Amino acid sequence: GNDLIWNEVDEYFIDKLIPFDSTLERVLHVNKEAGLPEIDVAPTQGKLLYLLAKIKGAKNVLEIGTLGGYSTIWLARALPEKGKVYTLEAEEEHAKIAERNIRQAGCQDKVEVIVGKALETLPNIKERVIAPFDLIFIDADKPNNPHYLKWALELAMPGAIIIADNVVRDGEVINETSKDERVQGIRKFISLLESEPRIESTALQTVGSKGYDGFVISVVK
Ligand code: SAM
Repeated sequence: GNDLIWNEVDEYFIDKLIPFDSTLERVLHVNKEAGLPEIDVAPTQGKLLYLLAKIKGAKNVLEIGTLGGYSTIWLARALPEKGKVYTLEAEEEHAKIAERNIRQAGCQDKVEVIVGKALETLPNIKERVIAPFDLIFIDADKPNNPHYLKWALELAMPGAIIIADNVVRDGEVINETSKDERVQGIRKFISLLESEPRIESTALQTVGSKGYDGFVISVVK
């Protein structure tokens, strides 16, 4: 079906616009070998995160959902010297693999992986005064997205970019009676954005190697 052409178009753009990078290729390979689910962002999307961080001139980034560190490395590479990505991961095993990948990418000075459920580690982040952040990427357990948005608003500086992945879910996002709690998490998250005066947002549908999905992109007032 459509997936075939989406894949081919993704490959075309990757080939033309994203210079071959053995480090990032290796990260994806290592993650697959380790049995991690292939739910890292696509290369074109990793580069979108990188470009947004550059456009913003981001220096202090928060990522919720590390997996094997693929998106983390994209973000870290966009930062200036002394820039930092704090990335939150619940699974010890994922965090270990991510740390190894981040070291192999030479990004260890720019990244801190924080292990634990994000709703338990976010309060520490506030206490440690490493906020405010100028870019926040929300990409963990979707049922908690409404909570992550509240935290993001708490920890963001004025003008910060907030990005959330997987907000379309094959179109399921418009199914108000969906039994999928991830879909309901996204719907609550979108409703919060609707009612929250401190933030301006849009959503972009995406197709490609990761199927039919999309991002929310917001700026904090
Ligand atoms: N951002 C990664 C990338 O693009 O390479 C992909 C992240 S993956 C979609 C989601 C990750 O969030 C998984 O590694 C999962 O273990 C983690 N996760 C799930 N629930 C979490 C929670 N409550 N707190 C922190 N991380 C969580």
